[in-house]
Amino acid sequence: MDKRTEISDLGEFGLIDLIASKFPENIQDSTEKGIGDDAAVINHKEKTVISSDLLLEGVHFDLGYMPIQHLGYKSVAVNVSDIASMNAIPTQITINLGLSNRISLEAVKAACKNFKVDLVGGDTSTSTSGLVISVTAIGEVEEENIAYRSKAKDKDIICVTGDLGAAYLGLQVLEREKQVFLTNPEMQPKLEGYDYIIQRLLKPEARLDIIHELRDQNIVPTSMIDVSDGLASDLMHIAKQSGLGARIYEDKLPIDQLTYTTAVEFNLDPITCVLNGGEDYELLFTIDQKDFEKLEKHPDIHFIGYMEKGSEIGLVTKNEQWVPLQAQGWNHFKD
Ligand code: ADP
Ligand code: MG
Repeated sequence: MDKRTEISDLGEFGLIDLIASKFPENIQDSTEKGIGDDAAVINHKEKTVISSDLLLEGVHFDLGYMPIQHLGYKSVAVNVSDIASMNAIPTQITINLGLSNRISLEAVKAACKNFKVDLVGGDTSTSTSGLVISVTAIGEVEEENIAYRSKAKDKDIICVTGDLGAAYLGLQVLEREKQVFLTNPEMQPKLEGYDYIIQRLLKPEARLDIIHELRDQNIVPTSMIDVSDGLASDLMHIAKQSGLGARIYEDKLPIDQLTYTTAVEFNLDPITCVLNGGEDYELLFTIDQKDFEKLEKHPDIHFIGYMEKGSEIGLVTKNEQWVPLQAQGWNHFKD
């Protein structure tokens, strides 16, 4: 990543000019007018999908260990992921900024380039309560390809991409090193060897690759959600909204080796981390059994269970015990 843009002395209009100058070109055909007027103009041929997220310093992120350039990237990635989980192609974003200090436009640019979206507008203000970032992502999808949470069917196969629990353990490592630092500022943080799980937390990727592959194979997931709160909690959304139960198998759950060993190091149960750790931004979806063959050999899609009639949602352990699942996702209102 290239040099960082410091905002502190620019002021609001200076910043808007800077943003406009950094995003001079639009790559999506559907962007008719981007930054520079009172509103952006978008010309979608199909259905438009929209999703927003609000990120508040001290609530959703801690600048103590969230490097500012990753924050710019992550705030785009998590919104693009919401568009992907509707089985839609993201095309534009807007960013609202409440600034107490700085933000890396380079990171926002890198994310826009990576996910092929145009930054078409936003709003900018000073903030007296820390950094505030709100991103809205806009995407496009043909009506027949939309994947709702509510349309899973009995006997559909439950699929999940990548591996789970890593971001949660990345957070445990960063929290531990922050505590060490607060007690003794002389101590250097020990992060070597934890690269993968820390990166999973700080710089998540939206799985657009999977969306494109499903299209190439002519597969429309019967339901889909991105894993932001944790597998258990997100699977419950699909099951409840589809009016079904779900059965997943412990021995099918994807976990990275480093996630596993770090969980053990922290005296945490690795499977609990996989089930309840949030912020992995992998895709959780269901497919009709007839589509299984087409995906069977995919190296990064895991088949973890089935949808069933009824309302029970549970895990079948390695010793064939049935454990009902509980939603223990992040809940900012609970604590
Ligand atoms: P308004 O007074 O209508 O809010 P602004 O002066 O705030 O207009 O914005 C001027 C232009 O700059 C608009 O096109 C707006 O979308 C864009 N803009 C402002 N802030 C941002 C931002 N944080 N990111 C992207 N574009 C922005
Ligand atoms: Mg404005």
